[in-house]
Amino acid sequence: MRAQDQQFFERRQDFPILGRKVHGKPLAYLDNAATTQKPRAVIDTISRYYESENANIHRGVYLLSQEATAAYESARERIARFINAAESREIIFTRGTTESINLVASSWGRTGLKTGDEIIVTAMEHHSNIVPWQLIAEQTGAKLRVIPIDDRGQLLMDQYEKLLSDRTRIVSVVQLSNSLGTINDVKTIAAMAHKRGAVVLADGAQWVAHFPSDVRDWDVDFYAFSSHKIFGPTGIGVLYGKARLLNAMPPYQGGGDMISSVTFEKTTYNDLPHKFEAGTPHISGAIGLGAAIDYVQGVGLAAMHDHEQKLLDYAQNRLAEIPGVRLVGTAAHKASVISFVLKDIHPHDIGAVLDAEGVAIRTGHHCCQPVMDRFQIPATARASLAFYNTMQDVDALIEGVRKTVKLFA
Ligand code: PMP
Repeated sequence: MRAQDQQFFERRQDFPILGRKVHGKPLAYLDNAATTQKPRAVIDTISRYYESENANIHRGVYLLSQEATAAYESARERIARFINAAESREIIFTRGTTESINLVASSWGRTGLKTGDEIIVTAMEHHSNIVPWQLIAEQTGAKLRVIPIDDRGQLLMDQYEKLLSDRTRIVSVVQLSNSLGTINDVKTIAAMAHKRGAVVLADGAQWVAHFPSDVRDWDVDFYAFSSHKIFGPTGIGVLYGKARLLNAMPPYQGGGDMISSVTFEKTTYNDLPHKFEAGTPHISGAIGLGAAIDYVQGVGLAAMHDHEQKLLDYAQNRLAEIPGVRLVGTAAHKASVISFVLKDIHPHDIGAVLDAEGVAIRTGHHCCQPVMDRFQIPATARASLAFYNTMQDVDALIEGVRKTVKLFA
């Protein structure tokens, strides 16, 4: 084993769940695009918080509340640095990518859109980057326009150029597709949108655990991601927004913490980021996400990605050797996701056979029904990688797929 592979193999010890057996077989967890497993450092940070610091934040004069507030706000600061935001007040805690996009669609959309305006998304979006725009389009009279993709699952950038116009108000794109693995060049997409005066949201749900993030280099106006896809807890995520835009937007939800003063006649709102964090937030979640980011930085995203890319090449090459396998999503720039179909065998059957072998993959439309329609398939089988995966995990996947072919022949 090469030194780097050995290093990642040893890192598996950080993830207690990876040691368990499933149906008597070692677990090969290949559903990381759905959610990632949690390292001991994250689990312990959350336990320690509840064991020794738990209190509501921002309101208490007593020590516990001050400690909880400091831990929560420290997580915000570390997240700001992690994605290179200019200021920590540009980091809004949400429930995840879905809520982050809904927040922008609902709050920015309410004042930023009117009849005849256009919202551009891509044909490879997760439903969470389609439906919120359809909802606000219905309310405002704006229209949704879609950048098509080619047979390899790549954006047709010339079509994007044609769709852009003075009516374009926002371009909202996935950075790494969860159903195809395609990487989209958000920096170029943003520059093109900005020329037309439109703002840009990048959906980083799949990106953050695989590549460094730099919202200022990309010059995106909004950035969304979920903690649970970067080794942190569920129920918490991030919306980054440029302060200038967030300041101009109306609140998303009303309640405690988001106000400056309340009377029955008039309410004024708190400053950023609190204006967008109504009610008691997911305090332990934010602290857990902070620990997850510290963990990722300790391992190093560049080395993680390097290892995953080798696994991706190996998995794709070995799958392609199996008669009847068709890869769905073969973009020149892709990462971490291997979607495939088997001739005459439903993906759910592949998933069931693999499960019996201890291999966890996802089957279905992956919340991307328009992608399935584009490729004229009902579903795919999808294996998705994290840095803790090994060649043995991939071998177990390949053996399971070969077994499926034999069983259903
Ligand atoms: N966008 C992409 C690209 C995703 O992969 C996902 C999760 N599968 C989401 C958005 C939604 O994330 P969440 O369910 O954590 O809100």
